[in-house]
Amino acid sequence: MRLAAFALLLSAAAPCLRAEADLSAVRISGTDYVSLDEGAARLGLRIERSIPQTTVMLKDGAQPVARLGDHSRDADFKGLRVFLGDPVLEHGGKFYISRLDYDYRLVPRLRPDLCAPLPRQPHVIAIDPGHGGPDDGAENRTYHSMEKTYTLDVSERLKKLLTAAGYSVVMTRETDVDVPKEIRSEIANKANADLLVSIHFNSLYPNTKTGGVEIMLFPPRTQRSADSWSPGKKSDAEDASAPVNSFNAWNTVLAGGLHRRLVDALKTGDRGEKFEHLRVLRGLKCPGVLVESAFLSSDAEAQRLATPSYRDTIASAILAGIQDYSDTIRRLHPAQVATPPGAAPATVPAPGPASHSQPTRPNAVP
Ligand SMILES: [Zn+2]
Repeated sequence: MRLAAFALLLSAAAPCLRAEADLSAVRISGTDYVSLDEGAARLGLRIERSIPQTTVMLKDGAQPVARLGDHSRDADFKGLRVFLGDPVLEHGGKFYISRLDYDYRLVPRLRPDLCAPLPRQPHVIAIDPGHGGPDDGAENRTYHSMEKTYTLDVSERLKKLLTAAGYSVVMTRETDVDVPKEIRSEIANKANADLLVSIHFNSLYPNTKTGGVEIMLFPPRTQRSADSWSPGKKSDAEDASAPVNSFNAWNTVLAGGLHRRLVDALKTGDRGEKFEHLRVLRGLKCPGVLVESAFLSSDAEAQRLATPSYRDTIASAILAGIQDYSDTIRRLHPAQVATPPGAAPATVPAPGPASHSQPTRPNAVP
């Protein structure tokens, strides 16, 4: 990275941070970057560089909370693999992170209390069972199992768990039919859903060995999809914001909860959180992510998926991830600030289906 590539900019308004003085930005190859030293200090974190300076660790006291690498989008947040939208860059002993990654990848994970505006406390959960009808999705060639069957099965298991936990659930399909992706987000919007989780299973043929969990988010405006960074591919960044971009920070918080719970429960490997311009997420008027809990192209994972108890484990992990997100939002709502740590949340009469003002989370599963 040459010094000539750096140009000092006037600080742009931070769309995520509230009540914070702004960070100074530099423009590198057309992208706004901020100094990681300055950005970490704003969050009360300290930086520790490795020698030689190819990686940097962010620490909260003695506790490592993030590891970032020079010229790399591959980052680690508290043991979870997360792909940034732009590579981290090192110059003259200083690390720089893109402004969008700072606002929408780093801050929501480490200091969600600094993100605004707060989304609604979740009550209505939209579940989207991927594929259906003539669209089988991925298929395992050894066992002839189809993605569309498992997405619906896991969604039905998740619906039962969410309903038992006190949430209202809307499904984008309940039978073996194909529903256009744009209609799926419309179904969630019409039901006033507070979040959407799209359920899918992965495929990487001819590779039959790779397994693990992948979480997909819609990229912030002007950031590229993860796939577009592959050799020979071009930027697919979009100039206009999609409706779901209003929830960039909260998509990250939701993804983080689901990611942690799925990786911990399945122990099959962490393929990371990635960006993709997914039509099912684009039009959402609430936070939403897509989860790929296993690879159908892997015979080992296809075998596990054939077991109902394994599909129960996936559904339980997704429920736990939604509850983690819900807990974070509840903690951040001002109405909950007075609740002492460890105390049960105040009980408030249940709202009507279209009301989102109720600040408490539905009851935990007994
Ligand atoms: Zn799929």
